[in-house]
Amino acid sequence: MNGLQIVNIHRSFGEISALAGITFDVVLGEIVAVLGPSGCGKSTLLAVIAGLEVPDRGEMLWDGKTLTEIPTYRRGFGLMFQDFALFPHKNVFQNVAFGLQMVKMTEPEIKKRVGETLQLVGLPGFEKRDVNTLSGGEGQRVALARSLAPYPRLLMLDEPLGSLDRNLRERLVLDLKSILQMSDQTALYVTHDQEEAFAIADRVVVMNAGQVEQFDIPERIYRQPASIFVARFLGLTNLIQGNVRQHGDTRIVDTAIGEWPFDGDYTGEVTVLIRPDTVHLNADSQCQLSGIMSELSFRGATCRIIINVNGVPFTFELPSNMDLPREGENIQLCFDPEEAIQLFPKSN
Ligand code: ATP
Repeated sequence: MNGLQIVNIHRSFGEISALAGITFDVVLGEIVAVLGPSGCGKSTLLAVIAGLEVPDRGEMLWDGKTLTEIPTYRRGFGLMFQDFALFPHKNVFQNVAFGLQMVKMTEPEIKKRVGETLQLVGLPGFEKRDVNTLSGGEGQRVALARSLAPYPRLLMLDEPLGSLDRNLRERLVLDLKSILQMSDQTALYVTHDQEEAFAIADRVVVMNAGQVEQFDIPERIYRQPASIFVARFLGLTNLIQGNVRQHGDTRIVDTAIGEWPFDGDYTGEVTVLIRPDTVHLNADSQCQLSGIMSELSFRGATCRIIINVNGVPFTFELPSNMDLPREGENIQLCFDPEEAIQLFPKSN
């Protein structure tokens, strides 16, 4: 296989198992996001791939060849951190040229490559600018140009937008994606923000406590989270206990707030997820969920509502152009169980 393969990587620090059997791959030209909460092992994973940490066991391959014995500087990987620290006493040109001088490019080649990368990141002609006069977004682009300039085989970005405010991040993540795609750059993008991961990545590795919970395309991770952890991490918090029982030829899942047909092949205790974006108001269906409106927040095209069903809060999203009950009033919702419900067997 061409690109990066990570196979069953382990790394412990004393009692702490920072990486406990990580397996995934990044094909050439692909952007893979590593997504997980603080302390799940993301930075350790990057350090191991970069060669800054040595794994206890497992295998890492590039284009099918082992990386284990290859020192950091010969792996040809680039790194960009959250606090990307541009050199304050050098101008933009000197910052971007830094890595190119290291690999002993000639002066005319360096000049050409710096111009190209500044063009690529949308800052043509910025060569002479003092880096202390740049805005947050411009500084981030210069740091990106500096990382891209030496043609890294793999670019690893560790929370590169973490220090910027939300609005700027939302805009820059899309710019970043198109810059990486335009340069056909293979990239590994570390973040704890699922919206950022989904916006930028072709595939996402969801990590928890040193392990991979799910590795898939963003749509499938959102539509079919592989575990309760993934569901919760994505903000899918409508989770209740249930029990699946056989009922004639079909199976039914019973919960404290309703029972619905279930098209699966197991019975017994389960956790039931009701997706927040699949309910309708007062539609004609048997799957009604009746509760008290306890919170409503307007978000533009959609409204986020919290309803209280038998004392349990559930969060849903509805189009904002409909007449919704006020807080404290009754609300009736319905959904198609096949679309709205996912079950996690007890062992999950
Ligand atoms: P964050 O998002 O907060 O940066 P992370 O997902 O990058 O977190 P890591 O920094 O990789 O997580 O840490 C994983 C675990 O390993 C944590 O429990 C951390 O305390 C531990 N750890 C990491 N480096 C070391 C070290 N050098 N010595 C001891 N423990 C470490």
